[in-house]
Amino acid sequence: MNSSSLIEQETKIKQPYNQHRRKGKSIMPRYFIWTIGCQMNKAESQRIADYLDSAGYQVATSFFNADLVILNTCVVRQSAENKALGTLGLLKGLKNKHPNLKILVTGCLVDSDTRELKRRFPHVDLLFKPGYYPELIAWEQKQGIPIEQRLLRYARNDTWMSPSPCAFIPIIQGCDNFCSYCIVPYRRGREVSRPLEEIVREVEELAKRGTKEVTLLGQNVDSYGHDLPGHPDLADLLNELSSIDDLARIRFLTNHPKDINLKLIDTVASLTKVCEHLELPVQAGDDDILRAMRRGYAVERYRELANTIRHKIPQISLSTDIIVGFPGETEEQFEHSLSLVAEMRFDVIHVAAYSPRPGTIAWREYQDNIPSEVKKERLNKIEELQAAIASEINSQLQGREVEVLVEGRKKGKWFGRTRTNKLVFFEDAGDWLGKLARIQIEETSPWSLKGEVKNN
Ligand code: SAM
Ligand code: SF4
Repeated sequence: MNSSSLIEQETKIKQPYNQHRRKGKSIMPRYFIWTIGCQMNKAESQRIADYLDSAGYQVATSFFNADLVILNTCVVRQSAENKALGTLGLLKGLKNKHPNLKILVTGCLVDSDTRELKRRFPHVDLLFKPGYYPELIAWEQKQGIPIEQRLLRYARNDTWMSPSPCAFIPIIQGCDNFCSYCIVPYRRGREVSRPLEEIVREVEELAKRGTKEVTLLGQNVDSYGHDLPGHPDLADLLNELSSIDDLARIRFLTNHPKDINLKLIDTVASLTKVCEHLELPVQAGDDDILRAMRRGYAVERYRELANTIRHKIPQISLSTDIIVGFPGETEEQFEHSLSLVAEMRFDVIHVAAYSPRPGTIAWREYQDNIPSEVKKERLNKIEELQAAIASEINSQLQGREVEVLVEGRKKGKWFGRTRTNKLVFFEDAGDWLGKLARIQIEETSPWSLKGEVKNN
């Protein structure tokens, strides 16, 4: 999953909340979900929130007025893990003051063996692995709360009262790749695809209720379907979803350079509802580092792939992920990543400093021998170069008209994204939520655009 995705971000689900307390007495228990990490975590938090809503819970505005707190954690890098552990520490004090507070923890912090976490955090009521809803249901039932068996299923046709204009739909869980630095396969397990018909049903229902755009999620969406009867693939799924009338746009992430194929590229090129945007993480610009990362491709394969994609889909915007300071990365090897960035001219790069993750292959086999100042310096160099490139790319949109699907309001402005995933802000007195706006771009920056409505 790319790290648009992985920016460590606290997401407060569905707030602000209209206070529903009667003289300090809660009518129904209130929940607060704290989420950090990738889009998959955010999608799973949303799923849990929907079910808690359907079970009659109400949403709290913070930890401090909740009866039930759920932490959805990430451990892809040490910094994310530290935030989760810090928050767990904070909640210990809160539970001391309010012993009835229930604390649940999910996400990639939760390993198969939870003994150590239970020892360190005895104030936690339940630890359940990401997507392991049966454990949550069993716990809820013990509390006498009528969480329905529907949480066991992915398709929740009857639960989304008024879905957001843009919905995130997990299509494949887990990862079979075992890149040497990555903890995801250990925490999320092997790949399991959702049946194609189930995804189509869910998206049909969402579209009927107002969702205009879906983003299909998986650690490696190119693996979708290999474990299903008849082996449908992502291209087949895109074809099916494209025929849903009320749906305007389809996206997906993340692709893997060793697995993405021509059938998918041609499908994206031919289906008008599929947006011109791909997340294709390269991770490094040096073949020896890519080999040590166990990525399964060389730089030349990536280059050819990007050229093919750009040739077949000229409007495509390409995003990537890069790790700097992988064990043993020399200055020269880092320069190879830097020159690949200059050559490829990506629209967006998520750059991360290598963080050793206990249990991974790189953690077992290599020493984390690049000093943190050097990692930081390399990270800054990539970010500076990318800011200049993105600034140039985005400035080409100055004066042009783009289609924006409006997702919401921030600081008095409407915001949404272009088909190429550029964030656009505009001011207007009308109600634009969930609508497609024609925006003339007036101001650009490396990170976002501003413009004016041109719809009649
Ligand atoms: N499946 C996607 C792929 O193939 O690249 C990415 C999923 S991964 C959870 C998201 C991003 O986190 C990766 O692209 C990588 O750049 C970053 N990441 C993963 N493990 C990391 C580590 N140990 N240190 C630093 N960054 C890491
Ligand atoms: Fe991690 Fe590699 Fe799987 Fe992505 S493909 S989730 S980086 S193991």
